[in-house]
Amino acid sequence: MADISDVKVNEFMAKVIAKNQGETEFHQAVKEVVESLMPFLEEHPEYQFSKILERMTEPERVIMFRIPWTDDSGDIQINRGFRIEMNSAIGPYKGGLRFHPTVNLGILKFLAFEQVFKNSLTTLPMGGGKGGSDFDPKGKSDNEVMRFCQSFMTELQRHIGPNTDVPAGDIGVGGREIGYMFGQYKRIRNEFTGILTGKGLEWGGSLIRPEATGYGAVYFADEMLKTRNDSMKGKTVVISGSGNVAQYAVQKVLQLGGKVVTLSDSNGYIYDPDGITEEKLDFVLELKNIRRGRISEYAEKYNVQYVEGKRPWEVKCDCALPCATQNEIDVDDARTLVKNGCYLVSEGANMPSTPEAVDIYLESKILYGPGKAANAGGVAVSGLEMSQNSMRLSWTREEVDARLKTIMSDIHETCVKYGKDESGYTNYVNGANIGGFLKVANAMMAHGYV
Ligand code: NDP
Repeated sequence: MADISDVKVNEFMAKVIAKNQGETEFHQAVKEVVESLMPFLEEHPEYQFSKILERMTEPERVIMFRIPWTDDSGDIQINRGFRIEMNSAIGPYKGGLRFHPTVNLGILKFLAFEQVFKNSLTTLPMGGGKGGSDFDPKGKSDNEVMRFCQSFMTELQRHIGPNTDVPAGDIGVGGREIGYMFGQYKRIRNEFTGILTGKGLEWGGSLIRPEATGYGAVYFADEMLKTRNDSMKGKTVVISGSGNVAQYAVQKVLQLGGKVVTLSDSNGYIYDPDGITEEKLDFVLELKNIRRGRISEYAEKYNVQYVEGKRPWEVKCDCALPCATQNEIDVDDARTLVKNGCYLVSEGANMPSTPEAVDIYLESKILYGPGKAANAGGVAVSGLEMSQNSMRLSWTREEVDARLKTIMSDIHETCVKYGKDESGYTNYVNGANIGGFLKVANAMMAHGYV
């Protein structure tokens, strides 16, 4: 007979699915949280009475808008823009902007929902939001990207503010895009203020922000390893992606004495059995951030294997850090990883493992840090950027890095507090979901039915 919690999860999900049709990633993210929370809520009926979960799955506000811009040949292009203002119970909405052709309402709602829990876990006062556009920066000239960003911000500027909503970068939105959007905001509003994070150092950015998500995912991995009296030293690590998060995850693994043997992009992966060195990483940074080329060029330059059209999970490793995109590890990939001896997964990306892949990790009792805990370093340092902007001063690299490390360690501790089971195994999924939920739920209870 089904457990009472399972029945309640199914009833709850039936309503979410009926109300948010076709938004499969949003259903997936909500289901994972509700499954973790339902047994806890059974013991705390006050949250059920106040319909906290029902309210948390309904965005406070969804903004959807038209973005017209002109390409280099003079043709008018129309994209769609979004900002999901999910939950502001514990602070201004905070979360990245994604520019990618796959962007749609369901994907941004999943990301905004995850962001609420993640931001709560950081211990900083930030609500959750997410936004972006189906615009594809790949293959566009700098001028085209600038005109698009200006048009995007022309509408977005009326919805954001340093105490209202503070977007950041995500897939397809790096320093270049943040710069163009900040410039347009300042021009329209005649205000120099912290309305975006991930800014350049000369104009309000924070040291360590570009590194924060990748570094944080590795700090979190290191915390998990410590629970087994282990460390990154000497570990073989497989990383996917080759963008912002992947790049700095590589750097931190190197600093902690591990060896990274793969990187990827949407076309395929490279396998470098000797390991990616600092010098090779410099090549990747230049390739991806300046020349905006494909990862296959790494294989050509260093004469290593390039595997077209595949993801790197078939490569033998101790640790896997998925740093590309959602659902990039399916059940077969997870089985392959575990079979090959991988015993740690720390998610730099958001929801990179399918629910069935997560089941494999948990059944195998490997160390598994879900994205909302493991990749919270990015938004944490964004929170620190907001603090520095408010105080109009800049902390040193060492100061920010030390705070990041402490925050990742605190998040880890919260996950253990709420996720450790009777056998001593920490289910970090439950830990992150319950730990993230409590602060937001208590604030919502205090605010009344809003
Ligand atoms: P970037 O745009 O810098 O890099 C994304 C990387 O992932 C690229 O190598 C890209 O390859 C690859 N990728 C993107 N989409 C796909 C796809 N559908 N299939 C295969 N590969 C893909 O983004 P970030 O590094 O900033 O973000 C990576 C992940 O980390 C995302 O899940 C993001 O939400 C998450 N994240 C990012 C944070 C941040 O601070 N930036 C904070 C927390 C989480 P290609 O160039 O071919 O598209």
